[in-house]
Amino acid sequence: MNKSFDLFKDRELAKKLFSHIKSKVSHFSNLKIMEFCGTHTHNIFQYGFRYAFQPNLKFIAGPGCPVCVTSDNELAEAFWLLEKRGVGVITYGDLLKVPYNGKSLFDYRSEGFSIEIVYSAIDALSIAKKKSDKEWVFLGVGFETTIPATSALLDLVVRTGIKNLSVISFHKNTKSIISALGSLGELRVDGILLPGHVSAVVGWQYFNDINAFGIPSVVVGFEPLDILYGIKELIDMIEKGERGIKCAYKRAVQEEGNRKMLDSINKFFDVTDCNWRGLGNIKNGGFEIKPEYSIYNARKRYKIENIEVLSKQNQCLCGDVLIGKIEPIECPSFDVLCNPDAPLGPCMVSHEGTCLAYYKWSRING
Ligand code: SF4
Repeated sequence: MNKSFDLFKDRELAKKLFSHIKSKVSHFSNLKIMEFCGTHTHNIFQYGFRYAFQPNLKFIAGPGCPVCVTSDNELAEAFWLLEKRGVGVITYGDLLKVPYNGKSLFDYRSEGFSIEIVYSAIDALSIAKKKSDKEWVFLGVGFETTIPATSALLDLVVRTGIKNLSVISFHKNTKSIISALGSLGELRVDGILLPGHVSAVVGWQYFNDINAFGIPSVVVGFEPLDILYGIKELIDMIEKGERGIKCAYKRAVQEEGNRKMLDSINKFFDVTDCNWRGLGNIKNGGFEIKPEYSIYNARKRYKIENIEVLSKQNQCLCGDVLIGKIEPIECPSFDVLCNPDAPLGPCMVSHEGTCLAYYKWSRING
């Protein structure tokens, strides 16, 4: 293991932070903190923090799982491209098992449709070059963390002039969703743990809109001490009645973000309205490829419009889980009809999904 990361797992320091938090939260009866990010949800479970401060402090999982918030509208677009345009689809593995209308990309692949999995967006280029007898569409999924990778792919597509590869953007804007949750009155929490990896790209000032809702927030990293330190900072803010945003992950996050990555996003993408699972159409909720690159935009190339989106086919309550309205264990299908081998919704599929976190870690820690 990398020694430098051992520093962020130091047991004695963890004990000190843990005791500090425990003693501070004992003065409160029902504090609620939302961790926005799905990776935080899993890590808070994995390191045993989720139940460690109850009943005084409860963690509420937020909508920060990009595969989970990919909407049925977007899945319908992907399925339509396969069925009606006969193109091949390239994407990240997590999306493959997400069901829509009783079917997933994985099912399509079993039926012989061309679907390739990549770990990095730019690998789509070599697939399209190697299998040049077919047209390919890369499905760009994720928050601001993965958009620079899609930008890098678009840059290569433009520079190489490759004809049989285009991109469809399912990318989501984290800033908009926090504002949307606040405006909808769904942010009934005392504090927010903000995502460290998104913040490393966009900077912590990006989330300034939260100030309108008067909820203290802290940008947090992902190692055990990062998370404990972030919780400590947040609890200290709540105790003092402080508002605003603090950064507890300064080794990776600058206030203004990463200029190079922001430039790469701004070069290829415009912020646009976008459909999120569980929240519907969100103003400025996503990123669309700029008009000057529309020949590389699969929505334009294949004239995708007005695709019929079938109404909900099962009892999945992912939408409510994603906005923290219910916990997965309150879903009647949890571990009854729905499990990682037979998921009814994306929250049980994605490695950042809240239902998967409860399924996996409750059994180990619970
Ligand atoms: S447990 Fe399954 S059915 Fe219930 S909300 Fe989660 S993914 Fe959907």
